[in-house]
This record gives sequence, structure tokens and C-alpha cells, in this order.
Amino acid sequence: MVRYELPRLPYGYDELEPFLDVETMKIHHQKHHQVYVDGLNKSLEVIGGESHPQYISSILSDLKSIPESGRNAINFFGGGFENHRLFWEVMTPNGDGKPGGELEDSIDVYFDDFKNFKKVFSEKALSIQGSGWCWLVFNATYHKIEIITTLNQDSPWTLQKYPLLGLDVWEHAYYLKYQNKRPDYIKAWWNVVNWDYVGNRFTELAS
Ligand code: MN
Repeated sequence: MVRYELPRLPYGYDELEPFLDVETMKIHHQKHHQVYVDGLNKSLEVIGGESHPQYISSILSDLKSIPESGRNAINFFGGGFENHRLFWEVMTPNGDGKPGGELEDSIDVYFDDFKNFKKVFSEKALSIQGSGWCWLVFNATYHKIEIITTLNQDSPWTLQKYPLLGLDVWEHAYYLKYQNKRPDYIKAWWNVVNWDYVGNRFTELAS
């Protein structure tokens, strides 16, 4: 059976300073993400994970295939595992602040320009009541990009949408440095977005 492990960060805990502080990054990765890793492995054991050998994003895309008794746990821990795995990848100490390429062309089509895209995305992220995520996703059915939000650890995969970029707005992601000031956290986060990574994900899907 697939055993999930805590993925390594592609940078050091202190490298997203001053935007994301070292203490938050450490706790977020080593403690919070670990809980989702352990919870996912445990949940798979409970339902007999051998019968679901696919990678977690495929399982999330087809939650109906999971016995009802285990579905909530897989949704929560599996979503939490995969959401965080992507979250680390879409950040970099060397964010240059702009998508460029085909992704930026698509952003211009659906959101007028990058500045407006950031505004719409930030407003959506702020509108989440309680814990959740804000996403840029690729909607393969309509072959377009969209901004969506999900609550708790719900994953875009469960909505048949392909996550390109995700922002964690659970308080554990920012409270030590930003306390109740979620807008300041969101504003700072744009400085560490890895647009090369996000743009490559998009190009693989859209071309
Ligand atoms: Mn988190």
C-alpha cells in the first residue's frame, strides 16, 4: 500500500522571510502537515487502502469510490496532505512577481490583467469565513482558468478542477506573524509565489 511521507520543502524554513516567518514555516510544515500525512495513512489503512492504489489526487477526484464510512477522513486528511504539498511547491524565495508566458495571456483574457487578477484573488481569499483555501484552478471541461475557494481541507480535485496555485488561509498559516491581519498576510504572500512552477503546470495542461 502507498505510504505517504512528509515532502521536503524546496527551500529552507527561513528563506521566505520576511514575508513568511521561519517559526510559522517550521510549525506549519513539521507539525500541521505531518498531521495530514499521518491522518491520510491511517484513513487508508482503515478503508483497506490496497483497493485504492492510485495517488491521492485521483482518489479525491473520485471520492464516491471510497466506502462512505471513510470518505470524510480521506477528504480531510487527503485534501490536507495534497493541498499542503502543492502549497510548498508554489512558493519560492526567488519570486519575481509575475506569471509571464501562456498563463499571463490567459489571466489577461479572464481577469483583464495581472493586477486585477491579484485583486480578485485576494478578495476571494479574504471572503473565506473561517478556515480554507483560495485557488487558481484549471477547469478542463471549459478549458479555462478560474478562482475558487474551498472550506477546511476540501480539495479542488473533488470538484474535478486542477489546482494551479493555492493559498492557505487557515490561521495556522499566518497567525504568529500577522495575528488577525489576514489582508497583510495575503499581500505579503504575493512576493513568494513561484510563477515559473505555476506557469509550467498551466502550460502542461492547456497546450
Ligand atoms: Mn495549513
